[in-house]
Amino acid sequence: MTTAQPPVVVIVGGGITGLSAAYYLLRTAREAAIPLRALVIERDERLGGKIRTDIIGQQRQFIIEGGPDAFLAQKPWASDLARDLGLGDELLPINVRKPATSVLVHGKPIPLPEGLRLITPAKWLPFLLSPVLSPWGKAHMLLDLALPARNVQGDESLAAFVRARLGDEALDRLAEPLMSGIYNGDPAEQSMLATFPQFRATERQYGSIIRGTRAMQKKAPANDSSNSSSNSPFLTLRGGMGTLVDALTAALDGNILSGRRVQRITPNAGQPAGYQVQLDDGTALDADAVILATQAFVAADLLSEWQPALAAKLRRIPYLSTGTMSLAFHPADIRRPFAGFGLVIPQSEHRHLNAITVTSEKFTHRAPEGDVLLRVFFGGFRNPDLVEKPDAELLALVRQELRSLMGITALPRFARIYRWRDASPQYHVGHLDLVREIERLAPPRLLLCGCAYGGVGIPDCLRQAKNAAARIFAQVRDTVMVSPAS
Ligand SMILES: Cc1cc2nc3c(=O)[nH]c(=O)nc-3n(C[C@H](O)[C@H](O)[C@H](O)COP(=O)(O)OP(=O)(O)OC[C@H]3O[C@@H](n4cnc5c(N)ncnc54)[C@H](O)[C@@H]3O)c2cc1C
Repeated sequence: MTTAQPPVVVIVGGGITGLSAAYYLLRTAREAAIPLRALVIERDERLGGKIRTDIIGQQRQFIIEGGPDAFLAQKPWASDLARDLGLGDELLPINVRKPATSVLVHGKPIPLPEGLRLITPAKWLPFLLSPVLSPWGKAHMLLDLALPARNVQGDESLAAFVRARLGDEALDRLAEPLMSGIYNGDPAEQSMLATFPQFRATERQYGSIIRGTRAMQKKAPANDSSNSSSNSPFLTLRGGMGTLVDALTAALDGNILSGRRVQRITPNAGQPAGYQVQLDDGTALDADAVILATQAFVAADLLSEWQPALAAKLRRIPYLSTGTMSLAFHPADIRRPFAGFGLVIPQSEHRHLNAITVTSEKFTHRAPEGDVLLRVFFGGFRNPDLVEKPDAELLALVRQELRSLMGITALPRFARIYRWRDASPQYHVGHLDLVREIERLAPPRLLLCGCAYGGVGIPDCLRQAKNAAARIFAQVRDTVMVSPAS
């Protein structure tokens, strides 16, 4: 007598989405006492995708993040996973500074006014006194209080929304660097409904986003994140975001194949609802179900042979390239520090950099005492070509910018460059409809998830991974339940 084999789920992509999907799938199967095999296949030897933490130095250590350095605390999925993996004590809020951020206006860093909630002032006096916007720009923003809610059906761009409610200057100096900066994208193309739906909902409910934000703030004073460090809107892990990847990797011991690229996924002729996963070394794996947690254009390539319509939709999600550079300095080298630990740079300033973070101020323990660790951001829709510049040229450009913006003429103690080619998915107007179409076209037992679809932040990637694991488990469980021992 032989017993039916446990179902096999192949997860393509060993970024945070793929790793956590495998983790949740195996955990659910274990809890339900149902045998199941999950295998993550990652193209690179290194796991984690865009999460990359490097340690530089021996006694005096710098913790360098090449990609994400923190996550939104309000969305529970990342802190939940950290606790599940035994990392609860490693969770730390980012430091609270008032102000946290400055914005470059006509070449000068100006602190954002206290009480600004992205683009809406929640406190009048600091807003009215702030030089971030001209008197005309402020007057235009205040028109939002008088304008009725617009009757916009469907999606619109971030630029169209902000221009209509708050004016051009608010778009240029606040919305573009703060809200499009997250996506490295063009506000004229960025989908309002996929990236900041809460502003559209506020407009509809209150008729004004300033009035709505203030009303919601009054209802929930405990959410005022500027009050104490325990209320910080962002959390990180003491040893860097890579800690999460390391813990997941340890939990998935024996369920990961790295350094192998998936080349093709086709229906498995031998099974009614299975797939064959073709690897670059010629191996073909049978899978009962597949979770695709790669870039959307990679998923398109893997499926294009037999799913041309789905592949065509997947290719409609565009990607941009970005980069970061971390540099260490002596505090005395910083002749003109800006207020807060972040400087955002509007596109209209025509700079090579998009933003600067003083990492050693934003976090405790990321740089040795007496050192300043900076991180600069470049590329994206403004300067995509910068990412391809050779290291020496890039460093020269960054030093030129740091000299002009912060008065730094000294050589950095070190500079570490990270290039993220075709790595930032763009949520263009209509993105939600496109994702719905992709979901509708996906064949049974094949799910797509990750930063290309339902949110780019780490908590949103984890939410998608958890949902994908639950859905795939429900689908393959039935095969186990009905497979008789023969
Ligand atoms: C510079 C930067 C800063 C960021 N900062 C933050 C932040 O502070 N907070 C935050 O929440 N988010 C941040 N993000 C976004 C966040 O890091 C990403 O959205 C998230 O890590 C994406 O995870 P993922 O697993 O969906 O995709 P990825 O990390 O891209 O993983 C996809 C994986 O698929 C693999 N793959 C591709 N093709 C194949 C193939 N054919 N076969 C096998 N494997 C394949 C790739 O090698 C990769 O490892 C940042 C992103 C960047 C680039």
